[in-house]
This record gives sequence, structure tokens and C-alpha cells, in this order.
Amino acid sequence: MSRQIVIIGAGLGGMACAARLGHAGYQVKVVEKNAQTGGKMGIWKAEGFSWDTGPSVLTMPFILRHHFQDVQCDVDDYLEMIQIEPTCHYLFPDGHSMHTWSNPATMTIEVARRENDRGRRFKKFWHYSKGIYELSADAFLFKTPGRTARLLPSGILGKLRHLPKVLTLSTMASKIRRSFKDPHVRQVFNRFATYNGSSPYKTPATFNVIAYTEMGFGAWYVKGGMYRIAAAMERLAREKNVEFMLNTEVEEIVVNPRRRVEGVRLKGGEMLQADAVVVNGDVIDAWTSLLKFPGKESTERRLARRPLSSSGFIILLGVNKSYQKLDHHNVFFSKDYRKEFNEIFKAKVPPSDPTIYVSVSARSDPTQAPQGKDNMFILVNTPPVQPNFSWSSEKEKYASFIIDQLENRALFELSKHIACRRIFSPLDFADRYYAHRGSIYGHASHSLLSIFKRPKNRSRRVKGLYFAGGSVQPGGGIPLVLLSGKNAAICIQHDLLRS
Ligand SMILES: Cc1cc2nc3c(=O)[nH]c(=O)nc-3n(C[C@H](O)[C@H](O)[C@H](O)COP(=O)(O)OP(=O)(O)OC[C@H]3O[C@@H](n4cnc5c(N)ncnc54)[C@H](O)[C@@H]3O)c2cc1C
Repeated sequence: MSRQIVIIGAGLGGMACAARLGHAGYQVKVVEKNAQTGGKMGIWKAEGFSWDTGPSVLTMPFILRHHFQDVQCDVDDYLEMIQIEPTCHYLFPDGHSMHTWSNPATMTIEVARRENDRGRRFKKFWHYSKGIYELSADAFLFKTPGRTARLLPSGILGKLRHLPKVLTLSTMASKIRRSFKDPHVRQVFNRFATYNGSSPYKTPATFNVIAYTEMGFGAWYVKGGMYRIAAAMERLAREKNVEFMLNTEVEEIVVNPRRRVEGVRLKGGEMLQADAVVVNGDVIDAWTSLLKFPGKESTERRLARRPLSSSGFIILLGVNKSYQKLDHHNVFFSKDYRKEFNEIFKAKVPPSDPTIYVSVSARSDPTQAPQGKDNMFILVNTPPVQPNFSWSSEKEKYASFIIDQLENRALFELSKHIACRRIFSPLDFADRYYAHRGSIYGHASHSLLSIFKRPKNRSRRVKGLYFAGGSVQPGGGIPLVLLSGKNAAICIQHDLLRS
């Protein structure tokens, strides 16, 4: 009889793992507490508008393509990816604005205009960021799981010159300060730290690689909405005979006295036996709530000591007007970026002068809003849920504050044109997805060691227990969680073959 695998969670990492194991002939069940698959990649529709409630940008699209290829399918049969250019429109409080591009020539001109240096500084930064990618991608993203991160994979001797860029103690912000003179350009490059929920003033400079992952491979969107990725991943998994149990919550991962998983217990008491269990939900939540064996507290304490990544405050607006000033992706920057990150990560309060991201996917895709209207997805970075701040009582006030800010910054009379709206606070991320205190990317990346300390895809403490998703290796964001699902599947296949 083929081996039984239970996957807790139908997020992208869980479904990536499921499709691979289903393809390899295992009996796979995905147990999801919510009514729809996709986890943080969600969708909401109202009054002719459609919004993605999670990711709005797909980077490194080749990783999604490879996921389908690895199980003998073609992603083009499931969805249509389109590249967004310019990648983003940045608006500064002093009235300046700037675009970013994935075409290096156009981007060189854009930055040179501000730096007044014929593109010299941008070209240097580009080679630096690309260099980090070339050296670290094989070692950290594409390495075979279970092996120690090898900084020197075979054939990489020629890239050794990039090593100091990877192993550096300086922060993203200090490297950016040394690389550019113009404060606007600096702020744009600092923002990439938020792609994994971290502060550029604390994150090691190695993470300047994120700029290359967007600018080198482009910022992509999926026609019909980003949620199509989740729908395609579910379809692929079902085609590989994966069974989905929706509206079903796992209450316990059952571990025997020899520290081996036996299966999972569902809310209501039913037991599902399994040879391997994959946690796609948050790793901290798994150790605090799902694992109950004696002695697990040391791992729980170790995970609790590390700083969490940011959460987010989201407003979805259906607007009876089209603001031509807005591109598909827009960022309204705060005046004092350092103060904003201090508020989020040190004071742990919602920013008083926030940077506001506004995405209007209807700009590239008319299916997302009625003609002449905008579907705004508005996101502000916030700390995870704090004991001294109540989102339930403050969320309406904070939403009005953000809308006021947008009116003052450029979107005149926005409140008058709102046809419908919905708010998600950090509490919703905690309640809907069991993301630990609503943090979106698990732990923050605030030290060089955080790369190595991120929880692994295979548990060292419990045999038969694996992790796939944004809170474990290699990290959060669509491409990385797909790799995480791949890593967990490889570990399981390897371990079950030997047992
Ligand atoms: C607002 C927002 C914007 C983002 N923007 C981007 C972006 O532009 N680009 C990008 O690449 N990434 C972005 N991300 C990050 C990206 O969405 C996530 O990293 C990724 O989707 C997480 O996938 P995952 O595999 O970790 O699973 P998750 O999405 O975390 O899903 C885990 C699933 O497990 C389920 N679950 C948990 N516990 C249980 C249980 N006990 N029983 C049953 N089910 C359970 C949950 O309900 C959930 O469905 C964004 C995220 C958010 C929230």
C-alpha cells in the first residue's frame, strides 16, 4: 500500500509539496481549516470589483514554471503571466516621484537622472546585487535540503569574488547609503527589506539581493488576478490525486513516545494516520498549539526568542472613479523612513506617518473593476499583534487615518468615491491563517545568522514531521514557499525510501 501523507494547510507551500508527492505516487491529504485554498493568497469580490487580498507581485516566475515542469505539466495551460513595466511608481512627500523598471537600461537612466552620474552608481549596485544572487542562490535557495548550506557549490570558484557581499555585517541601509547619494533613490532600495517583513536598518546587506530578484527577473501579474496561482496549484494537486479536506482543522499532531509522528487529530476527535506530516501553517503556531509531547517546550522557547516579521493593515476599496495618477503598483513614502521602522520594530506601534502601498490591478487587467473605476488594495506595514494595542477597537480609526493620508498625498476626495470596502488587520492574519500574532513571514531577517537559523524543512526532534511555508526555509513570498514545498517533498521521499 502506498504511504500516507497529511499536509496541514492549503497555502502555496502546502499545495506545492502535495502535488509533488501525489505525482510520485503517495496518498496525500491536504487538511485546510478555511473554506478556500491559497492561505494568505486570497480573493474578495463585491459589486463588480475583484481584489487579491494577499500577494500582488510575482517575482522569479521561473520558479513557478519549474514547479509545473517538475510534475510534467506546463504552467501556461493553467494561467497567463504578464510582466508589469514599470515595476512600481514611487511618490515622495516632497512632491518628487520615481519609477522602477526591470529593464536595466531604463532603470539606469531613471537613477542617473537623480544621481547625476551617468548611471555609474546604479550599474555598480546592480552588479553587486546580481553578484549576491549568483553566489547565494545555489547555496541557499536551490540547495538540496538536509545538507548544510554550501557556500561553495561546485563550479562556483569564479564567483568567489562576491563572497564579501554575502558574508557582511553591514545592514541593507548602510550599504545603500554608501551606494547612492540621492535620498529618494536610497528610500526606494531600502523598501526591498519589507519584501520579507523586515527593517532595512536591521537586515544584513546580503538581502540587497531582493532588488535583483525583482529587477533582474521582472515583476509579474497573473491575468484574472493573482489568486489564479492558488487556483492553478489546487487544480494541479487534484490532478495528481491529492485529496483536499476543506473546512477541517487539525488540533494535534500526534507523536508517539519514540518521537515519531503517527498522524493528526482533527477538531472533533477524528484521527488521520500518516507516515509523514507536513505543517504548511506557521512553524511557531505548530510548536505552541499542535505539538503536545513532553519536552517540546525548549523548541517553543527558542522560536519565541527571535524577533517576528511585520504584519500588515489592509484596506480594500472599490472606488467609483479612476485615479489616472495611479499605476498598477504605487508606493506613497513616509517622510522619515527610519522613524517608521523604529515604530514598527522597536516601539511596536502602527506607524504614525506610514508608507502606503496602493495596488490597482485594474490598470493592467480590466476584469478586476467595472469600467472607469479602481479596485484599490492598500497596505501599510505594522507590527504583529501586541498585548497593549487592540486592533478590534482601533481598526476603523486607523483605516480613516490612512484614507485621510491618501487624500492629502494625492488622491483627492477619495472618501467621497468609495463604493465598497473591507479591512484586514493583523488580528485577521492570526485568526484566519493561524499566522503567529499575525506576522506574515515568520521570523524577521534581522541578523546574518537568521538565514541559517530559520527553521528547517525537516524536524530534527520528531521523526516524520516536515515543514513547508513562509515561516521556514528558505523563506516567505511566492517563489520561496514553492521551493519550501519542494524541499519538504524531497526530504519525505528520501526518508520514506530508507524506512
Ligand atoms: C498582504 C500580503 C501581501 C503579500 N504580498 C506578497 C507579494 O506581493 N509577493 C509575494 O511573493 N508574496 C507576498 N506575500 C507573502 C505570501 O503571500 C506568502 O509568503 C505565501 O502565500 C505563504 O504561503 P505558505 O505556503 O506559507 O502558506 P500560508 O498562506 O501561510 O497558508 C497556510 C495555510 O495553513 C492553514 N492552517 C494553519 N493551521 C491550520 C490547522 N491547524 N488546520 C488546518 N489548516 C491550517 C491556514 O488556514 C492557511 O490556509 C504577501 C502576503 C500578504 C499577507
